[in-house]
Amino acid sequence: MAEFSIIDTYFNRQNKNSVALGVGDDSALLTPPKGQQLVICADTSVAGRHFPLDTDPHSIGWKSVAVNLSDIAAMGAKPHSILLALSLPQIDHDWLKGFSQGLYDCCDQFGVSLIGGDTTQSPHLTITVTALGWIEHGQGVLRSGAKPGDYICVSGTVGDAAYGLAHLGHPLQQRLDYPTPRCELGSALKGLASSMIDVSDGLAQDLTHILTASQVGAVIEVNNLPLSATLAALDEQQRYRYALAGGDDYELCFTISPEHYARLQQLNLPVTYQKIGTIQAQAGLKLLQYGQTYSLDFHGYQHFA
Ligand code: ADP
Ligand code: MG
Repeated sequence: MAEFSIIDTYFNRQNKNSVALGVGDDSALLTPPKGQQLVICADTSVAGRHFPLDTDPHSIGWKSVAVNLSDIAAMGAKPHSILLALSLPQIDHDWLKGFSQGLYDCCDQFGVSLIGGDTTQSPHLTITVTALGWIEHGQGVLRSGAKPGDYICVSGTVGDAAYGLAHLGHPLQQRLDYPTPRCELGSALKGLASSMIDVSDGLAQDLTHILTASQVGAVIEVNNLPLSATLAALDEQQRYRYALAGGDDYELCFTISPEHYARLQQLNLPVTYQKIGTIQAQAGLKLLQYGQTYSLDFHGYQHFA
């Protein structure tokens, strides 16, 4: 089966939203909405490196899209479409069927269209998704806007994906295989959050990117970290290690002034978020537990990352 037949069979479905020209020509065409900026990002996964070779292809398809939509959401933008660059060692129809279904399931859930890509043969299975979105000109939420006194918040629960990775077969493996990009929260935070990042490498590390870019520090109250029941039942150091150092959650971490936080709460969004700390002028990341300095042993960090 030739490349064109793969594209036609698996990657040429009807678009979900307005696309001037999608799969089938030399390039796709989009008409930018008036006054909007293009938001664009890409993410590559390599089989055997980012996921085991025997991972369910449906989950690989879902996650390849989800991690990119998460980056678009972390700018405060609305995702619009994706491109897929796929390198395959061989043509495996069962794999392609599961993968494309997972990819389209994630696209459908968030109203995103697959508008083009590239299909090649290569010794390694490699998947690169490029995501595109729109945002009102100048409204993108950067990492650099956090100010002393801002609250630090995180959506959902943290540490679950890392727990799932360490305990394959546990129900929390679902959080690892099927991350939910927080698209609705992300775009609601446009004009409200002072800075934002999505949590892919662990909350402590990703928050540190905000602190560095904003030239500020932070205090985190570990007792306020949002945890699933499974993590809350672990011993203290374990649970905080997963929550602060565990990767792959794809939750949003954002900073927001107390006034904007009050406005955010009035929106009554269906997604949960929790205030976990405060931005400070003094550099560094400090941990408190019920008001007392808390020290967390990050030994075994690599294991959790
Ligand atoms: P060209 O040779 O002009 O680069 P291709 O033959 O690579 O074009 O691709 C033909 C069409 O199919 C293009 O519109 C391209 O965007 C699309 N396409 C190729 N691979 C994929 C894929 N994996 N998913 C979605 N669209 C794809
Ligand atoms: Mg061409």
